[in-house]
Amino acid sequence: MLSRRHFCCAGALAGTTMFFGRAFAADSCTTLTRERQAALSPDDALTELRAGNERFLTQNMRNCDLLGQVRATAGGQYPFALVIGCIDSRVPPELVFDQRIGDIFSARIAGNVAEDDVVGSAEFATKLAGARLIVVLGHSECGAVKGAIDGVTLGKLTHLLQRIKPAIEAHGNAPGEHNSKNKDFVQQVATTNARLAAQSLQQDSQILRDLVTQGELKIVAAMHDVTSGRITFLQ
Ligand SMILES: [Zn+2]
Repeated sequence: MLSRRHFCCAGALAGTTMFFGRAFAADSCTTLTRERQAALSPDDALTELRAGNERFLTQNMRNCDLLGQVRATAGGQYPFALVIGCIDSRVPPELVFDQRIGDIFSARIAGNVAEDDVVGSAEFATKLAGARLIVVLGHSECGAVKGAIDGVTLGKLTHLLQRIKPAIEAHGNAPGEHNSKNKDFVQQVATTNARLAAQSLQQDSQILRDLVTQGELKIVAAMHDVTSGRITFLQ
């Protein structure tokens, strides 16, 4: 049976002292160790992602030696969070949260939907690899959400867009036209879609549900604004 020890250990010890005493050092490029990852709470992880987006917005992003981080993480990885985001080129999680090599897991799928394989990836990232936080990151002007609203059909995309239908139906009484030209409607559906995906992770996975119940994991939804780069957490 697989366990966390199959995915970590060995190496990544460089710079351990940088993380003692503080959950994170905003100006630090030191990668997490297993010990530091284990000491973090879900709220620590959330605080760091909030701070990371603030660094991004204020152009105070960390300037790290990425190849040095590659060497530091070669023997094992201890990311503190998983971001499930859209494939949209304007919303790369590592950049908008100011994270670097080994900091976060990133799962990207059109419309940030929680398909079974995404749920399995989340189980790996948390139960086996120790991440403390899952963020479902939706965004404004999402093409997948617009496609779902307009009933687009195209190859296997048709099936994927079905996952967004519950969010559309949740706004069945919203004012205005229910098509992709109605920006308010698109934003409402995208926001609800992120919320529902976060909820479904727990509903669909006993493993994730147990971690949340035990206080070892938090699952939240958030929305990225493609006009400003700002991320708003939906609590
Ligand atoms: Zn999108």
